Amino acid sequence: MAKRAKRSPVWTDIGQVAGVAVSSLYAYILIWARRQSKLVPKLALNIDCSMVREQRRKGDRRAFMHVNHVPGKLCVAHEVASLSPGHVVGLFLHELGHPIAYKLWRRSEQEDADAAVRQELGVTILYRGPLVLQWVPPKFAKAMTAFAKP
Ligand SMILES: [Zn+2]
Repeated sequence: MAKRAKRSPVWTDIGQVAGVAVSSLYAYILIWARRQSKLVPKLALNIDCSMVREQRRKGDRRAFMHVNHVPGKLCVAHEVASLSPGHVVGLFLHELGHPIAYKLWRRSEQEDADAAVRQELGVTILYRGPLVLQWVPPKFAKAMTAFAKP
């Protein structure tokens, strides 16, 4: 059996959004978010896990990311690379909000995740587009993608 190169999950190729590798964008979002709040967990990316593949196979077009499937990981479908920067940043922040909400309030429903992001990171997550997905304004997404450019 061929030995696969060992790479950090954060740098695994997942595609690009606005000319920035999604994994690099996440790495910078994580650095930025952890500067805002000590409650932000250092989750590693887990690309195309079995659960997200199954959700998408069953036709869930809103299945892009989740947490609490694999401990210490944020699972991501490679299709996030087809979304706008505002949606990708919004999705990542929302997922980070789940464990923050749990630490704060011992509950982590969808609205709790967004409330935690608002309280701890100062970002209001909106829902936009044909899939009504998490979204942050272009100004914020632009700052993050610029930050992530090598
Ligand atoms: Zn998963």
